[in-house]
Amino acid sequence: MAETSVSEIMESLKEYTKEEINNREAFKSKIEKMKKTFRLIKLSNYEYGLSFKGKKDHRIIVKEERDKSKAREYSKNENGYWRCSRCSSTGLKFKYGILFAAIKHGDGCETKEYSFVMKNQSLLKQGKLKEAYCLARSKGSK
Ligand SMILES: [Zn+2]
Repeated sequence: MAETSVSEIMESLKEYTKEEINNREAFKSKIEKMKKTFRLIKLSNYEYGLSFKGKKDHRIIVKEERDKSKAREYSKNENGYWRCSRCSSTGLKFKYGILFAAIKHGDGCETKEYSFVMKNQSLLKQGKLKEAYCLARSKGSK
């Protein structure tokens, strides 16, 4: 599958960010560099969620690029960095209002079923923190 080129991204910028890009040349070269290790996530392909402690906006759920029925979850750590909730060796970055997800994950880090992730989120929203935690553990996807 061919990767998205910078010019394609420039054409559909509104699908990636709500920010206005003023210096387009600087933006392009930054994207070109980051694209080597990160993929750009469209606004429609990620959402904020609750952490296992029920904290709002402490989780980001990112749909997989090739298979939208799969997702990865990222948790905000105490330093404010977003790390993969499974392998924690890699994470997310925000630049220009665009979400960048590291392409490489730790050994054996697998995606989760998107429907499962959302089931968990709905438990958390209902305040069923323990149930959500147990459900996640039962699938080994804490
Ligand atoms: Zn991972």
